[in-house]
Amino acid sequence: MTKTYNKREKYYPSLSDHKRQGKNLIPPFLLLPNLALKSWTNFRLPEMLWAVLIISHAERDIALYHFRNVVNYLAGLPEGDQPQDLTLTALSKIQPEILDGLIVELCDDDDVNLSLSPLTLFPNLPGQKSWIKNLDEMASLEKWDLLKEAIVKCYDHQSQEATDCRWIRPLYQTVRGKMHFPQHLIHLSEELLRYPHHGDMRAVRPTIRSMEGAIDDLQNIGANPNNWTEHFWQTCLLNTPCEKVELLMEQKETCTSINIDKIDSLILQLNEHCNKNRLDSAINPKFDTTFGISLYSLQIFREIVKNQMQNTILGRTALRSIVECFITLRYLRKNDNPDLWLAYRNYGSGQVKLALLKFDEIGECPNFVDQGKLKLNINYDRGEEFLSINLGNWEKTSLRDMSEKSGTKKEYDLYYTITSGFVHGMWEAVNEATFEYCGNPLHRFHRIPINSSPQLNDIIPDAINLINKILGDVDRLYPQFPYRVETK
Ligand SMILES: [Zn+2]
Repeated sequence: MTKTYNKREKYYPSLSDHKRQGKNLIPPFLLLPNLALKSWTNFRLPEMLWAVLIISHAERDIALYHFRNVVNYLAGLPEGDQPQDLTLTALSKIQPEILDGLIVELCDDDDVNLSLSPLTLFPNLPGQKSWIKNLDEMASLEKWDLLKEAIVKCYDHQSQEATDCRWIRPLYQTVRGKMHFPQHLIHLSEELLRYPHHGDMRAVRPTIRSMEGAIDDLQNIGANPNNWTEHFWQTCLLNTPCEKVELLMEQKETCTSINIDKIDSLILQLNEHCNKNRLDSAINPKFDTTFGISLYSLQIFREIVKNQMQNTILGRTALRSIVECFITLRYLRKNDNPDLWLAYRNYGSGQVKLALLKFDEIGECPNFVDQGKLKLNINYDRGEEFLSINLGNWEKTSLRDMSEKSGTKKEYDLYYTITSGFVHGMWEAVNEATFEYCGNPLHRFHRIPINSSPQLNDIIPDAINLINKILGDVDRLYPQFPYRVETK
């Protein structure tokens, strides 16, 4: 009963594309030598904010026309007067009158003048005096709106608008003669100079982004925050409110027809089947384990349904328990070895003996522990003084290996890893259950705590899938148990 899977875009490397290094699977991009991880959004976008504002509000042809003018203006200066780059920080280091001249030239177009006005929102803008002197004033609220619109368009480093802003950095270095192309790559120079009207854009755009990344390595902007980029994001955060966002959630499959009476009937049927198959009162690890694991799984399922916990964190920890029960029982059934059934049983008893001995050492016992019942249980098969404690896994292997050997690797891969994250309180479980995204792009879509209890996708269809497989195993081990969890 797994839902239709929406295969992710080929953009992401597949599992087989990864390379194993020790206990890590490394994606191909991280295997490239001397790769420094850089962020367009965090660091370079604020540095190219002037271009981001222009491309986001002007007709594209007009914006690119202005970009070329900026490049030609600056590259036409004597070399000593040229900025090293087109970032706001680099521009702030040139002679003020040259920067003034550039801004005056740009602001000759009233639309550009207006679209650049958000620059005046930032007290620590590099070259602030020149920008403020030459930009028209407008209401602060409108400036924040203009800025927000621009950040949305350029947030993704691969968007057309972001690519246009990234294009002018290699263009500038090429026009001023600082970037050269070997003869066999001369077509790249043509594509850069005549962008976006020359070459196959599906290849040209990624090439431009790579060139810009390489330039950034030289300028060392992308990997390190500077005063300006920190100031930019901090000012945005302090001056604009968080916004609630309704993410488009995947359609949740639910099982409204499951009710507690149906599960109670099933538990009764399983109890009757258990009693019917008991041949004597002797210790029988296979019998006890088969009915014990199946009833344990059903009781977990019952608790989830009765308390309507199918969309909760605990629902997922329950699913994790059920999948482990399923893999364990299937492994035992496939092997059907008396020693193995006994090993499973002795391992559990040994673990409880270990815990009780630790309580003796500490001189305390947790509230939830029923010492009397546990002592009775572990002494049932034999005196606990004859019970060994296994400090490893009960089958000297892992659940993953057991799933491979029992033909349940599919269920392991489907259900185990993500639900384990919820059991162990790993980050992505914590993230999914406790946070939502702020919808304000000026806040970089940071996380905000969820006010109500989390509404996670329903685990019932997955639990039914596993429970029915467990009941199928009961039927194989002790035949003529046809009952399953019905959803209609
Ligand atoms: Zn926010």
